[in-house]
Amino acid sequence: MKVEVWGCRGSLPSPGPEKNKYGGNTSCVEISEGDTTIILDGGSGIQRLGEKIGFEHKEVHILLTHLHIDHTMGLGFFLPLYSPKVTVHLYGPAGSTQTLTERLRRYFSPPLFPVRLSELPNHPIIHEVHKSEFNIGSLSISTQYVCHPSATVGYRISNGEKVFCYIPDHELQVGACNFPNEPEWTSGYNLALNADLLFHDAQYQNAECCDRIGWGHSSFKEAMQFAEMCNVKKLAFFHHDPHRTDDQLESILGELKGTENTNVETEMCAEGSVYQL
Ligand SMILES: [Zn+2]
Ligand SMILES: [Zn+2]
Repeated sequence: MKVEVWGCRGSLPSPGPEKNKYGGNTSCVEISEGDTTIILDGGSGIQRLGEKIGFEHKEVHILLTHLHIDHTMGLGFFLPLYSPKVTVHLYGPAGSTQTLTERLRRYFSPPLFPVRLSELPNHPIIHEVHKSEFNIGSLSISTQYVCHPSATVGYRISNGEKVFCYIPDHELQVGACNFPNEPEWTSGYNLALNADLLFHDAQYQNAECCDRIGWGHSSFKEAMQFAEMCNVKKLAFFHHDPHRTDDQLESILGELKGTENTNVETEMCAEGSVYQL
C-alpha cells in the first residue's frame, strides 16, 4: 500500500516561500494498492492529484472525513469530475438533518461554486458512511465518528498486512474521558489501534489549546499521547496550522524529540511525502 501526501495544511491553503518544505495545500492523501485508487479528502491538494489522474482513469474513490471547506474546496477543480469516462465514488458522513448529497450540493452551487453537482459531466456515485466497514478492491476500510464540530469520521485502511489510519481533524481532550488514561473512552481509539502509520491532527501547541477549546483540534503532545495509547508504530503530525512556517514546524519537532519520551516514531507530514506500507 502506497500513501502519498498531496496536502497536509489545516484550515486554509497557505502557500509561500516560508512554507515550501511542508506545503500549503489543505488535506488530500492518495492511497494506491494494485489498480485501486483511494483519495482521502478533497482539500486544495486534490487539484494537482486530479491532473495526474487525468480523464482516462477507470475508477476513483474519494473518502471525505467531513464537509469543512478545507477538506472539500478542491473537489470542483478535480479534473476527473469533468470526465464521463471515470467512475468517481464519493464517500462521507451525512449531517444530523441533511443527507451527504444535500451537504455536497451546498458547495457545488452558487454563490460558492458556479457548477452545480447535477451539472458535473461525471455523475459521482455517493455513499454515506457512518460507523461502517466495507471493501474497496483488496483494501478493507473502517470508519467511525470522531470528536470534531459537525459530523466527522476517521478512516482505518488495511491491506491485510499493514494498517494506515487517517484522523486529520480531531479534538482529543473534548472527545475523551480522562484523556489519556481511558483508551476505551477515547474518540478514535479503535481506528488507530496498532496502526503502522497514523496521520493525526496536530494543529496546536500546548499553550494554544486553552483558548481554542471546541474548535476541533489537538496539540502535538496530545497526538503523541494518543499514538502511544493506540500502540501506533509511526505518527506523522498532520493539519498544520496555516500560520506555522517550516522553521517553526522544525523547531517544534526538535523540541518534542528532546523532551517527550516515547516509543512512537514521529515526524511532520510534508506535502509530497510517500510512505510504503
Ligand atoms: Zn480541517
Ligand atoms: Zn474540520
